[in-house]
Amino acid sequence: MPKRDYYEILGLNKNATTEEIKKAYRKLALKYHPDRNSSDSNAEKKFKEINEAYQVLGDKEKRARYDQFGSAEGFGGFDFRDFQGRGFSDFGDFSDIFDSFFGTRTRRREDRVRPQRGSNLRYNLEINFEDAAFGKETRIEVPHWETCPRCKGSRAEPGSSPQTCPDCNGTGEIRNTQSTLFGQFVNIQTCPRCGGEGKIITNICTNCKGTGKVKKNRIVKVKIPAGVDTGHRLRMTGMGEPGERGGSSGDLFIVIYVKPHKIFKREDIDIISDHSISFIKAALGGEITVPTLKEKAKIKIPAGTQSNTIFRLKGRGIYKIGTNQRGNEYVKIIVETPKRMSNEQKKLLLEFAKLSGEELNTIGEKGIFDKIKNTFGQNNN
Ligand SMILES: [Zn+2]
Ligand SMILES: [Zn+2]
Repeated sequence: MPKRDYYEILGLNKNATTEEIKKAYRKLALKYHPDRNSSDSNAEKKFKEINEAYQVLGDKEKRARYDQFGSAEGFGGFDFRDFQGRGFSDFGDFSDIFDSFFGTRTRRREDRVRPQRGSNLRYNLEINFEDAAFGKETRIEVPHWETCPRCKGSRAEPGSSPQTCPDCNGTGEIRNTQSTLFGQFVNIQTCPRCGGEGKIITNICTNCKGTGKVKKNRIVKVKIPAGVDTGHRLRMTGMGEPGERGGSSGDLFIVIYVKPHKIFKREDIDIISDHSISFIKAALGGEITVPTLKEKAKIKIPAGTQSNTIFRLKGRGIYKIGTNQRGNEYVKIIVETPKRMSNEQKKLLLEFAKLSGEELNTIGEKGIFDKIKNTFGQNNN
């Protein structure tokens, strides 16, 4: 369905001045404002349309583009989706525009007396690496507000009942009539005395001091699934704070923090560790025993293994949440160079060097090593 022409909506022609656009908008917005036309659903539609037109024509740049392309849809520069993405399709934002224009702020009475859902709670739970990998059942103590058992949330002492607020006579609103340039205006304010509820409590509950809630610690059983990672959230429906005026409870969100492991690093469902071997084992090959998340595992190292070679232990990683699929463990080999050697070991290494064709005078430090080289040389002559 093609959109109606924005000028047409505001009852203007294309040569309208900025002032004329503003004036037309004010006039129409007042006429169709839903607060004045609560029984007319057409008025709300019309009001939205007026606002949409004004959003474009009231903005110099947008208006220029609209004039050029003739439509708000399907032209490049002005992104209509963005326009809606900011929530302008909601009635709420239109009324904000309206408020900024006329300086009034109204809040509907139904919003204040409607049942209200309880707040969600967030609980940060730190677990260790293995528990994240395999899952765990645990109990946490969650501080939360419960409906006061003495007044059952009514905030009044048992036996007493709330009184009608004398300031607003139970309406929850204070009305002021204001004369403005655009005519008489009724300014509606939430009654500050009763907070809009229309009732005040003269005899407050002694247990909750009139708040209707008491703070309690609750033990909550939590089943942490295998495979969770830092930042994951577990949602426990209805375990949040109680609602108000019969509203449902909020949810409890458990946010997981996984402690780092001494040996393993995690990458998604795989785990990675470093394992040092001697240069001899690297050269000759052999077997190594490495830690895994549960028991130990053996890996065969082929002769001539280089530093940074990675070996895979299939299925020794972390479970993918909600599946039987398990990641791998990767072991990165670090070839260690000995830091200290006996004279005997050094001699043998020199012999090895000689056999390998290395130039002996380029090897070793001055001092003690020269001495060994000398004895070594003598032995051979
Ligand atoms: Zn109470
Ligand atoms: Zn009141």
